[in-house]
Amino acid sequence: MSTTLYWFRNDLRLHDNPALAQAIAQSDALLPVYCLGSASAMHNGDPRWGAMQASQHRQRVLLDSLIDLDAQLRALGSALTVVPGPPADILPKLGAALDTRVLHCETIVASHEQEEVRQLGLAGMAVSSTWQSSLYAPEALPFDVSDLPPVYTRFRQLLAKAHTQQAAPLPVPAQLPPLPKAVHGYATVNLAQQLQHLGTLAPEPRASVPYLEGAFAGGERAALAHLARYFASDLPPNYKATRNGLTGTAFSSKCSMWLASGALSVRQLAAEIDRFDARVGPNEGTEWLRLELLWRDYFRFLHLQHGAKLFRYRGLRDKVAPLHHDPAQFTLWSLGRTPEPLVNAAMRELLATGYMSNRLRQVVASYLIHELRGDWRAGAAWFEAQLIDYDVYNNQGNWLYIAGMGTDPRGGRRFNVQKQARDYDPDQSYQRLWQQV
Ligand SMILES: Cc1cc2nc3c(=O)[nH]c(=O)nc-3n(C[C@H](O)[C@H](O)[C@H](O)COP(=O)(O)OP(=O)(O)OC[C@H]3O[C@@H](n4cnc5c(N)ncnc54)[C@H](O)[C@@H]3O)c2cc1C
Repeated sequence: MSTTLYWFRNDLRLHDNPALAQAIAQSDALLPVYCLGSASAMHNGDPRWGAMQASQHRQRVLLDSLIDLDAQLRALGSALTVVPGPPADILPKLGAALDTRVLHCETIVASHEQEEVRQLGLAGMAVSSTWQSSLYAPEALPFDVSDLPPVYTRFRQLLAKAHTQQAAPLPVPAQLPPLPKAVHGYATVNLAQQLQHLGTLAPEPRASVPYLEGAFAGGERAALAHLARYFASDLPPNYKATRNGLTGTAFSSKCSMWLASGALSVRQLAAEIDRFDARVGPNEGTEWLRLELLWRDYFRFLHLQHGAKLFRYRGLRDKVAPLHHDPAQFTLWSLGRTPEPLVNAAMRELLATGYMSNRLRQVVASYLIHELRGDWRAGAAWFEAQLIDYDVYNNQGNWLYIAGMGTDPRGGRRFNVQKQARDYDPDQSYQRLWQQV
């Protein structure tokens, strides 16, 4: 038993946090810490796509999540220390001041995040990391992750056939180890001041995820309250019928922001679906919602299987045609100034709110890749900067899939924008809604 650090990376929660549970079990004193200069907090886009940084929407949700986490830690006799720089600069110094090299955290298998851990190792830290972001544990799968089927449908069929079981979510810890003795010589961030620096954001009445309202705010407590509200409503059985909606709070589950920031554990969500089904009976709404959570798992396992290759332009392909990425066209796309009104409306919604429906994410991604012949990584970087639900695995996986650079043998996904507008916005009300930002 000893003094250790717990490094909050993506999962900003106390419930169902196996890495934190392990840190608690192995520590006499524990310093929970968050680095504002970490890959999970910042925009990691390639500067080739222009200077991008995390949008005010994304920053606000992160700050709200951290403030909530700190409040919850304080209620358990601890507190969150927030530091400004990259982990490899700061955590080894903190460790030295506390006379410890032991650092617990969750595992993240994306390029920048893996590099962070490598750098910490080089700086002498003993990093103990735990995989926890998928619904199914990799070792519960009916195959080795290296044999992940190249097609999602096959993946879910194999899991269904094997009756693969998800682990039950862990409860919130009853108590945290005390904080180590006060250490000095490093700067910390005051979250309330940080919020002030961000400035006042005007509420957007058209937002599908109005994160400035308490009910949709970042953080674990709002996430769990949303879960309770959602499953007490009549929305879940209608999920399949409404999930292709374009605007409003009532289509699709609206869990992504909290799942992406780890304020909500996917196992907690799945357990809630189980309870709902036990009460209401099996229904196609929650059955379909589960299938979306499996997409989420699929992209996680794809990253475990292929790692950094997924971040190359050619992805998993051997050969690809030369690129014709036009930065001027890309800028017009990102600002919603293309010849396509539906694409423009969606891109303006993204800019104004940090959210866009799944249907429209597919349409705008396809338009950039297949009509403008843009580099899919630029689109992924723009989404990374803007989205309040930015999730490295889901974002990379979906862009790769639409570009046809992943494992799917059918190639990319090309959407006919005008047909999509006729099918999903027949009265053009969505396009009118976002004519102006
Ligand atoms: C180009 C592109 C980029 C995307 N980038 C992200 C991203 O950065 N972060 C993100 O969470 N989702 C991303 N998605 C997936 C999807 O659009 C969002 O998860 C969904 O719109 C969020 O709203 P919701 O929670 O109401 O979804 P629901 O329909 O209620 O789905 C429930 C949950 O299932 C998961 N899910 C749903 N659809 C997908 C999918 N296609 N792939 C993987 N998981 C899925 C999400 O965790 C979601 O919260 C992207 C999709 C595309 C086409």
